[in-house]
Amino acid sequence: MIVMKFGGTSVADADRVRRVAELVAERRDRRPVVVVSALSGVTDRLLEAASLARAGRREALDPVFSDLARRHRWALAGSIDDSGRKHDLALEIDARLDDLRQLLRAIRVLGETTARALDTVLAFGELMSSRILAAALADRDVEACWLDPREVLATDRRFGAAEPDLERTAELATSRLAPMAARGAVAVLGGFVGATPDGITTTLGRGGSDTSAAVLGAVLGAEEIQIWTDVDGLMTADPRIVAAARPLDRVSFAEAAELAYYGAKVLHPASIEPAVRRGIPVRVLNTLRPASPGTLVLREVAAGAPAVASVASRSGLLAVRVSSPRLRVDPTFLLDVATTCARCGATPDVTASSEIGALVALRNDEAGRAAAVALAQHGPTEVREAMAV
Ligand code: ASP
Ligand code: MG
Repeated sequence: MIVMKFGGTSVADADRVRRVAELVAERRDRRPVVVVSALSGVTDRLLEAASLARAGRREALDPVFSDLARRHRWALAGSIDDSGRKHDLALEIDARLDDLRQLLRAIRVLGETTARALDTVLAFGELMSSRILAAALADRDVEACWLDPREVLATDRRFGAAEPDLERTAELATSRLAPMAARGAVAVLGGFVGATPDGITTTLGRGGSDTSAAVLGAVLGAEEIQIWTDVDGLMTADPRIVAAARPLDRVSFAEAAELAYYGAKVLHPASIEPAVRRGIPVRVLNTLRPASPGTLVLREVAAGAPAVASVASRSGLLAVRVSSPRLRVDPTFLLDVATTCARCGATPDVTASSEIGALVALRNDEAGRAAAVALAQHGPTEVREAMAV
């Protein structure tokens, strides 16, 4: 079997949902388990709704809620033809929206949100998008089963950044998903959402649907995990900067991790680590151009692969030059520089050292700026802004 994960832009509206249902239907002989993100932008809107509710700003909250309701009603109305099915789903979505409305009201009355309550709010996006996709599949005569991810993805209790428990998820997934796949039914579930052992809703952190897909693929021993997004895969360079950039056929996990570290946004490799560790290939594919082969992320660099996979860059950095007061090789100098950066919570993007000093490139954020100031204790510093790596 395979895992197919669709990101928010892949299910942005009714047309896209139809397209995704089509893609899944065409691959049903590969026995897909489908993991889906919230409709694009919905998680941000839910966060906004929760913070408006907490601030008691009802006038501002109402339009945000209406917008969420409208987007889901349009998505379902436009992606399902069968009128009975459309009607049933509309009732279901309205019931979920009503739950959300009550939850937001409770937050407004209390004037506070806990991380735990916030996870319950954020989970609505994936819980609704997955129901819409499951119905759109059924509409194409695919036997599709909607599953509540809280009954499959077991996590710890770190609300907002929960860690999947692979052992428990393996048990749950095998008992729930394997029989479906065996009888040819396509399981559809929302990503990003899980539950604690006592059934409290958790989320895996932003972008967490990739993690859901990787964890499920890993525990089910999938043949391949497909991450469907809105680009052709990982590229040789940022296509917004380099017009001649082209998709890579294959990258190693380490290369993908380096690219993400330097700003490539397609895939956060940490999220697919459970799959890569078990040697399950992860393929990044484009929902809008399904015929293109995408990029395969493998555990090791493929034999004969080019020495340089890709060029990435990050701008807006601070370059801090620290001169060594002793003007001779001092093995502890670089260690002091690194320790000061670490103490400020800053990780240098690049560090260079010479006999007379060190140069570190830091993010221009609170930690980086604090480190730039603190580094002066080791010697005279020169700070330059707007630098790039
Ligand atoms: N919907 C969640 C987010 O926007 C999770 C995901 O899309 O992977 O962060
Ligand atoms: Mg997303």
